Amino acid sequence: MPKEDILKEYYVSMGISPEVFDFCSQIEDTLTGRFREIDHIAECNQMKVLAAMRKNRLSEGCLAPSTGYGYNDLGRDTLERIYADVFGTEDALVRQQITCGTHALALALMSQLRPGDELLSPVGKPYDTLEEVIGIRPSSGSLAEYGISYRQVDLLEDGSFDWEGIRQAINEKTRLVTIQRSKGYASRPTLSVDRIGELISFVKGIKPDLICMVDNCYGEFVELKEPSQVGADLVVGSLIKNPGGGLAPIGGYLCGTKECIERAAYRLTSPGLGKEVGASLGITPTLTQGLFLAPTVVKGALKGAIFAANIYERLGFRVIPDNRESRHDIIQEVEFHDPDLLQAFCVGIQASAPVDSFVRPEPWDMPGYDAKVIMAAGAFVSGSSIELSADGPMKEPYAVYFQGGLTWEHAKYGIMMSLQKICETGKVRVL
Ligand SMILES: *Cc1c(COP(=O)(O)O)cnc(C)c1O
Repeated sequence: MPKEDILKEYYVSMGISPEVFDFCSQIEDTLTGRFREIDHIAECNQMKVLAAMRKNRLSEGCLAPSTGYGYNDLGRDTLERIYADVFGTEDALVRQQITCGTHALALALMSQLRPGDELLSPVGKPYDTLEEVIGIRPSSGSLAEYGISYRQVDLLEDGSFDWEGIRQAINEKTRLVTIQRSKGYASRPTLSVDRIGELISFVKGIKPDLICMVDNCYGEFVELKEPSQVGADLVVGSLIKNPGGGLAPIGGYLCGTKECIERAAYRLTSPGLGKEVGASLGITPTLTQGLFLAPTVVKGALKGAIFAANIYERLGFRVIPDNRESRHDIIQEVEFHDPDLLQAFCVGIQASAPVDSFVRPEPWDMPGYDAKVIMAAGAFVSGSSIELSADGPMKEPYAVYFQGGLTWEHAKYGIMMSLQKICETGKVRVL
């Protein structure tokens, strides 16, 4: 039997119709050039990670657990030096005591800012969960409660920076500029590392002692460079997204200048103790191995995003980013303008999952949202969004946001399954 037929038989036996298989295979065949570029970036990033592990003499002894205070935890300290080298920074804080991405970002802001300081976002509204951290939505313990003010300059209509607005917003109180790389759940473009670099040069040209922080969530290893290599003083992210490689069960990281990391460590543990404490409890091997795998895992997720963009654009749906655009994070948005299609997409993603494949996602009233939300996730690590996952609010434009896939092969099957379920509604046909 020809190789393609063996594969097709697997897909058909796992619920994909021959028509959907053929349609998707044709699209895949057009993507070899794009995929080659992504392979190249992953290969460079793999070298970068491996070089940092060799340089810092990662050893078997580093994989031993520590308990109690965790003084002199060789593995933890080595992993932090590896992160610092990968991100091109003086120092890093990589800890499972940082519980999630929001916590890492809150830690970064709360450790750098002091009463009377002002925080500036020159790229519009920050990620939802930061609104309570900053105090945009009033919350106990917010920056606002500590007398730290906030200013925001929105992107212009066409997605470009409002240079004049930013210049006017910087004043004697401005201490920290926060730049979110990924668009999150907004429909602005994701920022490339080069654009982040331009923005940092601009604000530092106005006030050189500003701290520039980048929310790097979903962006790690998508490009050859990280924002810390174009002037960011601090880059921050979650270990259950890109840099944990799907293995990290928890954690967050901050990479940056020596002073920024020291302030963050003093805030995370205690003034005076800083990075010296924080037992690893045996988690260091998965955090380290996850970083080792991360460039490859991100590669698979990116291929999946591009595959989906091409499929759904061909079928006439608006996709952001579109099928040709360069990629700066792993998120793909598809607008369905139809609740049944949004739900069918999520049903397909869930059905393809390694965990909880038998569960059927339903829209629900999630706290903090003004419409029902539907979500699909069948992950080994709860809530991990480097694993194939999708969600969308049940309101116009009925857009799904999806990301991840620990392997390209799984991302591909999941996207084909989403199309299969969409075809089964009878509202869409593949030709
Ligand atoms: C996921 C994400 C966060 C928050 O991370 P959690 O781990 O969900 O708390 C912040 N910013 C961006 C851009 C994100 O994608």
